Amino acid sequence: MPSMDAPPPGEPTRAAAEGGPGAPAAANAIPLRDLGGGVMMPVLGLGVWQLAAGRETEQAVEWALEAGYRHIDTATLYRNERSVGAALRASGIPREQLFVTTKWLPVRRGAAAEIGRSLERLGLDRVDLYLIHWPLPGRTGRGWRALESIRERGLARAIGVSNYGEHRLAGLLAGARRRPAVDQVHFSPLHHPAALLDYCRRSGVVLEAYSPLERGRALEHPVIVGIARRLGRSPAQVMLRWALQHDVVVIPKSARRERIRENARIFDFALSAAEMAALDRLDPRAAA
Ligand code: NAP
Repeated sequence: MPSMDAPPPGEPTRAAAEGGPGAPAAANAIPLRDLGGGVMMPVLGLGVWQLAAGRETEQAVEWALEAGYRHIDTATLYRNERSVGAALRASGIPREQLFVTTKWLPVRRGAAAEIGRSLERLGLDRVDLYLIHWPLPGRTGRGWRALESIRERGLARAIGVSNYGEHRLAGLLAGARRRPAVDQVHFSPLHHPAALLDYCRRSGVVLEAYSPLERGRALEHPVIVGIARRLGRSPAQVMLRWALQHDVVVIPKSARRERIRENARIFDFALSAAEMAALDRLDPRAAA
C-alpha cells in the first residue's frame, strides 16, 4: 500500500489572498488544495501548452500573475520552461507564493536526469509538482520510484501523474511507497470521466483538469451558452466553474490578456445543482 501520510484531499482550505507586485486590487482570492506535507496548490493555474517560447509565454505568465494567478503548468514537452522561469523571476513575486508544475517526458532519459534539466531551464531549485506526463506500459513502476526519490531529494515538493485512468492508477498505488498527489487528465463537461473522479476522491488523489475549455471547441454549445447567458457569465467561466464545483483543479490556457483575466473571475458565483446536472449530461458517454 502507498504511504498514507498525506491527508486525503479536502475542500479548498484557505484563500491565497497575497497581493504581490502586479496583482490588481480586485485579484481573486484563489482557494488552495492541500496536497499533504504542507504543499498547497491553487485551484486555478495557467496552462502554457502551445504558447511559443519567448515573448508569447513570458507575456501570458506576466498577465496571469497580474490577474492573481500564482500557479503555472508547463512541461518539458512544451519547450517553454525557460520562458516561464524568466517571467516568474521578472515578476518579483516571492518564490514561496508561486506554484510551478512541470512534467517528465517519459520517452526520454530517466526522470532523475530530466528533473535537473527542467530545474536549470526554469531557474528554480525545486518545482512544486512534478508529473509523469503519460503512462508508459511496463515502465510505470520504475518511473514512479524515480519520482519518489526526486521528492525525497527535495527537487519536487509533490509528485503525481498525468493521463492515468482508474486501472493504471490502481496498479501504481498497489506498488507505490507514496501515492501520487495529483492525476492531471482531460476533464470538461464534454469529456467527463466521472468514475475516475470518484476513484481519485476515494484514493486521496487530487484530480486536475487539462483542456477544461475543450480547447475552445465547446464554447458555443447551446447548454453552456444558455447557462452563461442566464448567469451573465461567459461560456468559459461556466465550464471552469463546473470543474471547480466537482473539486477539480483547472489550468486553462490563453495567450490573451482579457481571456486570462476572464478565466480567473470564477470564484464569485456558483452553479445550481440543476445547472451542474445539465452540464454533467453533456459528455455523450454519460448517456451510455
Ligand atoms: P484549454 O485550456 O481547454 O483551451 C485553450 C483554448 O481555449 C485556446 O485556444 C484559447 O485560445 C481558448 N480560450 C481560453 N480562454 C478562453 C476564453 N475565456 N474564451 C474563449 N476562448 C478561450 O486547452 P489546453 O491548452 O489543451 O489545456 C490547458 C492546459 O492543460 C495546457 O495549456 C497544458 O498546460 C495542460 N495540458 C496537459 C496535457 C497533458 O497531457 N497533461 C494535455 C493537454 C493540456 P487563446 O489562447 O487564443 O485565448
